[in-house]
Amino acid sequence: MDKEGFKETYIRKLQALHGKSLEESSIHDQYIALGSLLRDYISPNWIKTNQQYKANSDKQLYYFSIEFLLGKLLDMNLINLGMKEVCQDGLAELGINLSVLLQQEPDAGLGNGGLGRLAACFLDSMAALSLPGHGCGIRYTYGLFEQKIVKNYQVELPDNWLKDGYIWEYRRTDKAVEVSFGGHVRSIVKADGRVCYLHESAEAILAVPYDIPMIGYQNNTVNTLRLWSAELAHNDCYFTFRNRNDFVKAIEYKNSVERISKYLYPDDTHPEGRLLRLKQEYFFVSAGLQSILKGFKSANHKIQFFSEKIGVHINDTHPALAVPELMRILIDDENLGWDEAWQITTQTISYTNHTVLPEALETWPVDMFQNLLPRIYMIIEEINQRFCKELWEHYPGQWGRIADMAVIADGVIHMARLAVVGSHSVNGVAKLHSDILQQYLLHNYYQYDPTKFHNKTNGITHRRWLLKANPQLTDLISNAIGTNWIAEPKELLLLRKYAKDTVFKEQLATIKLKNKIKLVDHIYSHYGISVNLHSIFDIQIKRIHAYKRQILNVLHIMHLYNELKINPQLDMVPRTFIFAGKAAPGYYIAKQTVKLINILGSVINHDKTIQDKLKVVFMENYSVSLGEMLFPAADVSEQISTASKEASGTGNMKFMMNGAITIGTLDGANIEIEEAVGPENIIIFGLTAQQALDYYKHGGYNAWDVYNEDMRVKKVIEQLVNGYLPDEREEFRPLYDYLLRHNDEFFVLKDFAAYVDAHQRLDHKFRQKQHWQSMCLENIAHSGLFSSDKTIREYAAETWNLERSIIRR
Ligand SMILES: *Cc1c(COP(=O)(O)O)cnc(C)c1O
Repeated sequence: MDKEGFKETYIRKLQALHGKSLEESSIHDQYIALGSLLRDYISPNWIKTNQQYKANSDKQLYYFSIEFLLGKLLDMNLINLGMKEVCQDGLAELGINLSVLLQQEPDAGLGNGGLGRLAACFLDSMAALSLPGHGCGIRYTYGLFEQKIVKNYQVELPDNWLKDGYIWEYRRTDKAVEVSFGGHVRSIVKADGRVCYLHESAEAILAVPYDIPMIGYQNNTVNTLRLWSAELAHNDCYFTFRNRNDFVKAIEYKNSVERISKYLYPDDTHPEGRLLRLKQEYFFVSAGLQSILKGFKSANHKIQFFSEKIGVHINDTHPALAVPELMRILIDDENLGWDEAWQITTQTISYTNHTVLPEALETWPVDMFQNLLPRIYMIIEEINQRFCKELWEHYPGQWGRIADMAVIADGVIHMARLAVVGSHSVNGVAKLHSDILQQYLLHNYYQYDPTKFHNKTNGITHRRWLLKANPQLTDLISNAIGTNWIAEPKELLLLRKYAKDTVFKEQLATIKLKNKIKLVDHIYSHYGISVNLHSIFDIQIKRIHAYKRQILNVLHIMHLYNELKINPQLDMVPRTFIFAGKAAPGYYIAKQTVKLINILGSVINHDKTIQDKLKVVFMENYSVSLGEMLFPAADVSEQISTASKEASGTGNMKFMMNGAITIGTLDGANIEIEEAVGPENIIIFGLTAQQALDYYKHGGYNAWDVYNEDMRVKKVIEQLVNGYLPDEREEFRPLYDYLLRHNDEFFVLKDFAAYVDAHQRLDHKFRQKQHWQSMCLENIAHSGLFSSDKTIREYAAETWNLERSIIRR
């Protein structure tokens, strides 16, 4: 599409949609018109992609995830379609500023953090690589809450992201399916002697799909993200009521049905034990599998070949009911025998584990489960019995081991065990994490069948986190090494030939400075805090969680501030510490952490005696869009989780790709970042995973010892409770107790000294400008290793057996 053609189409679109002239139209009208124009433009390729997949009978992969943290799509779609320039220039000639329209789009915040964002990056990579891979999830009416800071506290507001409609979704009533809850199961013996099971008096809920096109990078591929919405199965029941009370009941019933897809649960590390969450899990898994089966059968494939044509990947255990649900469909609906159904199911499903935190592992009480999903429970019981029998033959007499591996034990269903038993491939999300799975959490399964276990280190899409988020850096790179790195991100390594080129590195630094200016302006206009542009922008943005140790960062800031109060002339490079992140609403320690950061900011930022050497900024409402502003403006990336606890991290990769230097522990993918850039281009400190795991296993750590021996620690810890902070004296007593009396389960105090030392090394390196710029360059150059394209290529080749399917326009 050329510019003139674009302008003409756009005006026509705007007028037809709104019945207004360009002059009369609002910004929102203009935004809707642009979205609508793009929908028209995308549609032919979407249709063509689906037709070609069908005609070639390509294997299709479905990525099941209870979260997809998409962020905004308009700008990304323009880039993917290669239309951004035409669109920007065309609109400008019409007097419209594209970037203003882009702001109209709500963030699709259908996820808590890393897990949901990973799913979004993977969809982007699958489309970019011309792989037939699609998403399956829930269309939550409300996404993750919006965070505001009021009087230093986090408050949560509902995220009503659909209130003005959503330009990227296509409601597909014709593809709706029914999902059944409750009822009971009756077995009958058929004429041929086979037993079959009837699920009777169940409640049927309508699952309506909303499809979102997932657009590949300039390759004509358009895959599908299908999000399911819960609705009343029989709307006509409204008209059968005899009195007012019946009508009220009907409304209540309607609400109870729609509630299934109404809210995203806002906690990513504590599984929600509620019935509604279990309903959500079964709802989207059942709807997704039913619709996959419909598609499969309409292509006239034989059910025996199901796993050759279909792959289902489960992102953590929330979709693990895919195992018994696929069994149910194959046995009850398709009349297969158990063994054949089991063979197909396990060959179809693959599983990624995301955490080793014991408190984050999902289990469901048998009673609750059985009432809600009686037929599915029967199937899980049968899976468990057969598996335990198999184990018994392999490990006769080893009751302890078998109980540890059983899917149902102690009155609960262990979802991770169900996922492992029911899939052909299990992977962790970074080398260290996969090792810990094999050596600790899933050790017994690993011994039983080591061939099932793999590693797939996470990645991020460089199209969003570099092309979209940092267009100036993108241009600088392309001017230097050409554009082939966009298709082959490992070619970013070519940048290394500029390692000694001071002009190039100065250009890099200039871009960083420009991104920092944008952030400085934003911080000033939103929070009234003026930050020193030339200070080190030291950023920790991620969910607030004890294991991520924002507290360690905070205690270090308090320590620096103490030093400055003693000696305002202290020789340090000025620092701006920036935080963002949401705390789960019921997570007390996390919310106190948010409050502490904000209070500390209010003290430090107003203190004139420290000569602006220190600033602390908490930015509200961490989201994909906020991240796109912060990663490009960072000098330093804080990745300081307790070693062994952060499965991978992906924020670390976004920072690296934008030229920030990591200060971090040997945890998750930090280890692989260090391997890539070399120890001289990253700052590592603290306990190793092995040391942490040994403490957990054998004990031997006493937080009081550190407190008593390190006066710096003692001082900052006491400042939490001695009235030093301008708040109620007891406000932070729980944090104090958590660190001392409950013995600091994440080794904050233990790592404090090493962290202070690491920051001194950092300060020292930052002063050597040339050296620092070389470090930045090395980080960018090696970041191609962490493109999700690489991760997805590995999944496609090693787990999914998925092939590229080139779409011609
Ligand atoms: C990348 C990302 C995350 C994950 O960050 P980690 O530092 O890996 O925990 C969470 N939220 C958003 C909005 C992100 O973009």
